Amino acid sequence: MHCPFCRHADSRVVDSRTADDGSSIRRRRQCPNCQRRFTTIETASLSVVKRSGATEPFSRDKVVAGVRKACQGRPVSADDLALLAQRVEETLRGSGSAEIDAYEIGLAILGPLRELDEVAYLRFASVYQAFDSLDDFDAAITSLRAERAERETAAGTAPGGSVEEAPTAST
Ligand SMILES: [Zn+2]
Repeated sequence: MHCPFCRHADSRVVDSRTADDGSSIRRRRQCPNCQRRFTTIETASLSVVKRSGATEPFSRDKVVAGVRKACQGRPVSADDLALLAQRVEETLRGSGSAEIDAYEIGLAILGPLRELDEVAYLRFASVYQAFDSLDDFDAAITSLRAERAERETAAGTAPGGSVEEAPTAST
């Protein structure tokens, strides 16, 4: 690896450290020519195969950009989006393959986005899964409601405890 300061063709590793989660290695390097030090980070490559067949490196920024529009006007912070992109990357890396289809990224986004914000999820899913009728929305909403009911049951808030959470008009 060449020196970023003087472009000398070689550099020497003076220290290596594995990240806590084991996903990357930081190397401290020194240039034998100008003696300056710099750090490199080594991660396993993760390539995205686009529909055209071209590949590009996986990018969390692109995940965030892809989801941001669906989150407009929703109580979703930049931190939430960064965390979502991180979870998406972990899911994709967890699949163990170095190359993934662009389609799989959308699939990996759906789960965490549903937990983050149901409205943003519906917007994203409607585009990604090409909803073309009210029935598609209806099915997605029914599934969201069923999951929510399951969560509440699991959390021990139902039956009987959900009255306050779902106030209804009394007139
Ligand atoms: Zn140098």
